[in-house]
Amino acid sequence: MTAAAKAGTGGRIPEQYFWNGKRVPFFVPWSTEQPLPAKLVHRPGPGGIALGYQDEIPGDRFRDVLWVRMSMGQGNGRPDMPGVHALRQRRCINHFMCQVCGRPTERRDGRYLFLMHAAGGRAISEGERTQTPPVHVKCARESVRDCPHLRESSTAALVEHAPIWGVAGIEYNPHTLAPREPLGNENRPKLTEVAYEDHSRIAWIKAAREVISLHGVTEVDLSDVGLAA
Ligand SMILES: [Zn+2]
Repeated sequence: MTAAAKAGTGGRIPEQYFWNGKRVPFFVPWSTEQPLPAKLVHRPGPGGIALGYQDEIPGDRFRDVLWVRMSMGQGNGRPDMPGVHALRQRRCINHFMCQVCGRPTERRDGRYLFLMHAAGGRAISEGERTQTPPVHVKCARESVRDCPHLRESSTAALVEHAPIWGVAGIEYNPHTLAPREPLGNENRPKLTEVAYEDHSRIAWIKAAREVISLHGVTEVDLSDVGLAA
């Protein structure tokens, strides 16, 4: 079994896509990949009445939480950078797949590398929550080179544990089913983070990102860290 198969990718190495000579990260949506409309309704669930789709199917839920429907068409049209494809982000987070190349990221020492924009030069902190999937060292260096946002300021850390914490999504009013916050635009909606254990709120979320917390965090310099993936 290959490393990719063990990580739940079905053994296939994801196809790599390029735009204007630069690789398009695996979790970036393309213009043909859009949220699909679905009518929201009150629906009986394992914990009582919750948000649901009128024509809901089992694949609309993950860990009992309702997820946004997104069309799939990676590589078709134009990449929508710096957007995020909700379902590829979820796949990356749950299988520790690289946000850039979509391959498994576990290192020989069992840790994972995370790269983030460093707002105000701030490093990644112990216990910090993130929606950003891990990355390979080579892919991280490429991202810093090619992404203006990361080139301006970035921070990297090796992480020992990254348990699932919750989701980020659009929260709806349980009575009116109206969004609690303004929606933002389609691939960059305004999202609220809710923990899986917050049952009363997560029942009214339409999730668009998986959220993990980072533990055993050691800040690293990308130019020094080894390629021990
Ligand atoms: Zn990679």
